[in-house]
Amino acid sequence: MKPLWKLDRTPPIGTPFDPGARHDVIIVGAGLTGLSTAVMLTRAGLDVAVIEAGSVAELATGGNTGKLTLLQGKRLAEIRKHHSAALVQAYVEGNREGMDWLVGFADHAGVSYERRIDHSYAQDAGGIDSVREVHEAAREAGLETRMLTRGELAGAAFPAAGAVALDDQVTIDPALVTHALADELLSAGGTLHTGVRVTATHALPDPRVETPLGPLFADHIVIATGYPILDRGLYFAKMRAFRSYCVSFRLPGGVPDSTFISVDSPTRSIRPVSDADGPGGPARLVVGGNGHSVGRSDGETAAIDDLVEWTRRYFPDAEETHRWSAQDYQSNNQIPFVGAMPRGLGRIRFATGYAKWGLSNAPAAALRLTAEILGANWHDRPSWMVKIGTRLTVPADLARGAIEGAKVAAAATTGWVDAERRPVPVPKPAEGEGVVANRSGRPVGISTVDGVTRAVSAVCPHLGGVLDWNDAECTWDCPLHASRFTADGTRIEGPALQDLKPVPRKVGG
Ligand SMILES: Cc1cc2nc3c(=O)[nH]c(=O)nc-3n(C[C@H](O)[C@H](O)[C@H](O)COP(=O)(O)OP(=O)(O)OC[C@H]3O[C@@H](n4cnc5c(N)ncnc54)[C@H](O)[C@@H]3O)c2cc1C
Repeated sequence: MKPLWKLDRTPPIGTPFDPGARHDVIIVGAGLTGLSTAVMLTRAGLDVAVIEAGSVAELATGGNTGKLTLLQGKRLAEIRKHHSAALVQAYVEGNREGMDWLVGFADHAGVSYERRIDHSYAQDAGGIDSVREVHEAAREAGLETRMLTRGELAGAAFPAAGAVALDDQVTIDPALVTHALADELLSAGGTLHTGVRVTATHALPDPRVETPLGPLFADHIVIATGYPILDRGLYFAKMRAFRSYCVSFRLPGGVPDSTFISVDSPTRSIRPVSDADGPGGPARLVVGGNGHSVGRSDGETAAIDDLVEWTRRYFPDAEETHRWSAQDYQSNNQIPFVGAMPRGLGRIRFATGYAKWGLSNAPAAALRLTAEILGANWHDRPSWMVKIGTRLTVPADLARGAIEGAKVAAAATTGWVDAERRPVPVPKPAEGEGVVANRSGRPVGISTVDGVTRAVSAVCPHLGGVLDWNDAECTWDCPLHASRFTADGTRIEGPALQDLKPVPRKVGG
């Protein structure tokens, strides 16, 4: 399952690791957040090192749909339901600055992109009220949106009962632009370590990160890992993680010019790809959607197959080329978390919670992290930064947190009870399948991938959730806080920092 954007591309190669080295700033994570922050700080003259467990754009940044837009589906209406119009305006202003920064960077680095009309649309009449709410929240925040009727959308190949549209938004190849950020960091003398997992972060006595290759020291540390890899502030309990799917298609009959995302369920995200905003080759269409909480799905493969079936229904000549999946995080109070980590002594910062709109939110977060690290005076910072930085938690945030907390608690109990019911030995899973069984009271995950049957502990090393088999990606996913592991137990992402323990093979059938 490789994203279209990563085909036939070699990510930038990192620099040799020098244990004990000291930098002005260490950034953990080479996604869009980490690398845009790194480039901004390097341009300001700081010595920056980025440490990445995989390669550049390894996770969400390399697996998204590449829409850089201020309209953002129904995000603005969702924020407006719980916050003041002034806060939505600050959110939009921050995203506008983030978007302008990334587009300016793309121009500077020679990364091409397309300008397109973006639409948030209703699939049927029941979604029209949501479309109207988006339009109202967007206008209130200063965006020049316009409503389109069913008749005005008659040319759409798929069912659309109405839409709100915003002109002049951007589509860009997300992996290409992130690779270009890494190239600029390296050519400016910055440091990039790929394939190095950070296993601990400390503020005292000297800010430092631990890795299997040794420690690195810095004046400031930025955690840009999606879900923060530090439990300080308990952010894992203040966010939800959603995994969703993308499929790319060749469309011999031509692709639409515009981008669309539905405001009603099931989500359908439609993104044309041309030579300018994709990896080249024939015109393609990316269709995304069918998201769910990580580790809480009845069938990941079925979710992708459903997207393919939908696409073939409305674009009968569509030929599937690639399918992939990624996850992103949403804060319970709807606004991204950006800034200093509690008990980090002002030395450890983080940014996450973009609710699948990171192409503008990540550079916006980077602008704010950069201002904080450079010690910019509050009165020199743009008003959106000040406004967002001082927002308050409202009762609805607490209610959403309580609902998610109850779901997490339910998932925690269900996992252990289900495992209890299935004692080993169990039949060997068929190719691509995995099952959790009970061995002397401990859940064990048994899977068969590429002909190899393996058994690993099915208990997440983060907070003890029982893992769920993801049949699309052949991974073990945690339904509690979204950590993920390969079939052999290697940690992929999430707040867990350790791999799963292997279990002797006699547990198989
Ligand atoms: C299916 C999907 C579609 C999306 N489409 C869009 C879109 O069209 N437009 C839009 O604006 N946004 C979109 N998004 C959201 C966007 O992709 C994300 O918000 C954004 O990429 C987040 O960037 P990031 O750098 O914060 O996180 P990531 O890209 O996840 O980067 C985090 C990095 O940290 C590394 N890491 C983690 N743990 C460690 C560790 N212990 N040590 C070292 N490194 C570590 C990871 O390997 C990873 O590379 C989409 C998201 C999804 C899931």
